[in-house]
Amino acid sequence: METRVFLVMLFVVCLILALAIKASRASNFGALNPAMVCPHCTSKGQVRTKQVTNKKGISGGKATAAVLTAGFSILATGLSRKEMATQARCGACKNVWSF
Ligand SMILES: [Zn+2]
Repeated sequence: METRVFLVMLFVVCLILALAIKASRASNFGALNPAMVCPHCTSKGQVRTKQVTNKKGISGGKATAAVLTAGFSILATGLSRKEMATQARCGACKNVWSF
């Protein structure tokens, strides 16, 4: 019985690890966008795009201050400053840019 439980746990851990590795690999440069033209070398079908979150507003000091003062202020100021952006990477000229 003990061995069975251990094996099931081991299987679950392996499954989570595999999913995490898969997710991190997929989010490296994003999916290939066949319609997009690279503004640097004008090649088509070489550009990969992915959604990224700009965390410009959140610094370590700010986050610590927010926790020390109210805690809720991180929700009001910190999270609202997150901006969604699209990061693009060209497979032909290896340029990376965001818009
Ligand atoms: Zn390019």
